Amino acid sequence: MEPPDFRVIATDGGEGVTYTCGCPCVPTARPGADGSAGFEHCCCGKVHFVGEGAAAALSGYLAERKATKKREPEYEMGSTRLVVAGAEREVAWAFPVEAS
Ligand SMILES: [Zn+2]
Ligand SMILES: [Zn+2]
Repeated sequence: MEPPDFRVIATDGGEGVTYTCGCPCVPTARPGADGSAGFEHCCCGKVHFVGEGAAAALSGYLAERKATKKREPEYEMGSTRLVVAGAEREVAWAFPVEAS
């Protein structure tokens, strides 16, 4: 899988990070006012976190889902860094691996 084409966009709540999802949504995650990680879980199952500790927050989130959901896909994961709202932020993502 190619890494997602993350880019910064302006939202009503400040700058956020989105990507071309492939569904009609524009999934956008924003860091909290204190820089903490915020996330978006798209309708199509892709998740991304933006902010401090994004990768750790993402693994915790997925671990909890795995423990509570009957059907949880396998994910391909990665991370990168982007300047959002004036500071470099951690961006972590987990996209379901397409069943082939
Ligand atoms: Zn969607
Ligand atoms: Zn989507």
